[in-house]
Amino acid sequence: MLDKLKESIDKLSRLGIVDREHVEELVRDVQRTMLAADVDVTLVMRLSDAIREKAMTKLPDGLSRKEHVIKIVYDELTDILGSEKTAITIQPKRILLSGLYGTGKTTTAAKLARFYQKKGLKTALVACDTFRPAAYEQLEQLAKKTDAQFYGEKNGKDAARIARNALKLNTDVFIFDTSGRNALDVALIEEIKSVSSAVSPDERILIIPADIGQAAREQAKAFHDALGITDVIVTKMDSTAKGGGALTACKETGAKVIFITTGENIENMEQYDPRKFVGRLVGFPDMETLLEKARESMDEKKAEKVMTGEFTIDEFYSQFESIKKMGSFSQILDMMGLGRFKGKAGDVDAQEGKIKKWKHMIDSMTQEEKANADILNPLRVKRIATGSGTAESEVRELVANYAKSKKLMKSLSPAKLKRSGMFRRLGL
Ligand code: GDP
Ligand code: MG
Repeated sequence: MLDKLKESIDKLSRLGIVDREHVEELVRDVQRTMLAADVDVTLVMRLSDAIREKAMTKLPDGLSRKEHVIKIVYDELTDILGSEKTAITIQPKRILLSGLYGTGKTTTAAKLARFYQKKGLKTALVACDTFRPAAYEQLEQLAKKTDAQFYGEKNGKDAARIARNALKLNTDVFIFDTSGRNALDVALIEEIKSVSSAVSPDERILIIPADIGQAAREQAKAFHDALGITDVIVTKMDSTAKGGGALTACKETGAKVIFITTGENIENMEQYDPRKFVGRLVGFPDMETLLEKARESMDEKKAEKVMTGEFTIDEFYSQFESIKKMGSFSQILDMMGLGRFKGKAGDVDAQEGKIKKWKHMIDSMTQEEKANADILNPLRVKRIATGSGTAESEVRELVANYAKSKKLMKSLSPAKLKRSGMFRRLGL
């Protein structure tokens, strides 16, 4: 009985009749978590409006209202922080670290050196912190631990000069560690600006500790105005702090998070992972599963698009891949009670051995060709055959098969396919 009731409530909400109060309650939950995670107050308010607006829409299949809201939050936050694991370029470069005193610059400098060394690049740590006593020794020690070269001038006071002098080292990656202060001040900003203009670093990284709190905005703005911040590293993620300051820093600078650090040890650095980071920030650890569900729901929409005629060569191929995984196409049609299409599907079965070759051919096609096979003239066919190490006749055969499948797809009614659950089974 209760199940029945729940079912009808679900149905109602799926029809687009949204319980505003429920959404409002969920938004308040999200606000509370974000504020507790030190996300900037004005940012929380701005995000809440975006969430409210999007959360009122029709519920995607398979998601609860809460999951829907969390997915919206995830999209909004990763839009600011970075939606992908950032691709770190492995090439010679100059990296400048900025941040206040005690944020973890020097430790992170060594971790970065280790990271690039593991990727096979020579690295050098440069001591531009002429402010803090023993900063020179701290970095020198860390350099020994990481097998990085070290450059410093023991009693030097001119950070920009030291940075410039370090450039004579024969190395691939220069990492310039700079000084911080307890609070933002003019001298600090002037100094780091002079270091930056002395060596023109490719990456100007802002170090933000996870527990920075509401001070993140002012710091991010000051360093960004001085240097033009290109990336953010969030340190001390092993603490209880959730790293909400990173959100402010990214919003303020337009830069994305590249790494997080999780301890004092030189190995305690990980590449930023949006699922883990945002999951923790909003108190929803199993982001992975939620995103998977949301993806499935999106894919169904995409499949519907396919059925209405926008069936590209790429989609054609991905279907064959999924069919291969689960058996033959004719078996699938049997399973769905669509055996009468078997005549046509029989041809498809016969092609299974060729699927591998098709992959090579499709890889040799341009985006334009994949989107519109009609433009495949003899010249293009020849180029694809050469590029994929196949015969022109084989390329023509692929194109013919694609055309045949496209026709077949159109002849099956979307409603019937949807009822049969074919979309999901095909992994579309
Ligand atoms: P700097 O003043 O910005 O150069 O900061 P340091 O690199 O000297 O680090 C300040 C303190 O924070 C040191 O005690 C570090 O060991 C510690 N620290 C740095 N990164 C992390 C981290 O990811 N986790 C923890 N728990 N401590 C860290
Ligand atoms: Mg330091």
